[in-house]
Amino acid sequence: MDYIEAISQSYDLVLKLEDRGKIANYIPELAKVGPDKFGVHITTVDQLKFGLGNYQEKFSIQSIAKVLSLCLAYKMQGEKIWSRLGVEPSGTGFNSLVQLETDNGIPRNPFINAGAMVIIDILLSNLGDPKMELLKFIRSLTNQQNIDYSRTISNSEKSYGYRNVALCNFIKSFGNLENEPEEVLNFYFDLCSLEASCEQLSELFLFLANNGKTKHDNTQILSLSKSKRMNALMQTCGFYDESGEFAFKVGLAGKSGVGGGIIAIHPNQYAIAVWSPKLNEKGNSFKGMRFLEEFTTLSQQSIF
Ligand code: GLN
Repeated sequence: MDYIEAISQSYDLVLKLEDRGKIANYIPELAKVGPDKFGVHITTVDQLKFGLGNYQEKFSIQSIAKVLSLCLAYKMQGEKIWSRLGVEPSGTGFNSLVQLETDNGIPRNPFINAGAMVIIDILLSNLGDPKMELLKFIRSLTNQQNIDYSRTISNSEKSYGYRNVALCNFIKSFGNLENEPEEVLNFYFDLCSLEASCEQLSELFLFLANNGKTKHDNTQILSLSKSKRMNALMQTCGFYDESGEFAFKVGLAGKSGVGGGIIAIHPNQYAIAVWSPKLNEKGNSFKGMRFLEEFTTLSQQSIF
């Protein structure tokens, strides 16, 4: 079945399912989003573009942005970043504190909150204007100048982000942050507040399906080896303690966010983004997971 047909059939099927997820309400602004939003968009390396539902509406991409901050830090600093954090799945929730104690403040991977904070610290130490330079980097991945941070979302998270404050201070206490926790947290909340539509996301992430090279201007963003490693990390750590389940049922590299978005990559084929705000108990989009499972089944294409 071709991609358009597989998307259309999966979309219709999942649209009808009862949504057993719950919207993230620990960030008050996220709770205001329409719970029935549902959008999907694919961009392939040979430039097929196809979307359904609310695929042009921007939403809060939350932890999906952690892939982009990691790309920039990895591009700038290379393999030495791995002395500050690991590449192992954590098997715990995205905001868990437990492993940091036994691991001496070295986060298991860059996609749990603790790991993303260490990456943010690296960007703060190595860029003159980190917030603007990260945004410039992200915008350069497509030609989309209207991708931006949301002050409303970042302020909303900041005012209730007690657990992230604890995580950040905890890492600092082990000496694994160069900058002050307050600075790291401010940038971390800004990162999570980035907004994009499914259409924009699938275009932003296409370079990871294209061996590290953008399609719109043929820029080698990451080397082939780094690009492969980014996909490997998404495959093993992109869904926290549901990463195994995602590999098992969907079979793509991917990353989720508590805004209900998921980006998934099939190397050499496509990037596909799906958005549905209600989350399962692991913090991943209930319908998004189901959609991608149907899609890879019907298209008979996965990385395995
Ligand atoms: N901003 C969110 C948090 O730190 C990101 C979590 C996520 O998307 N999984 O809690």
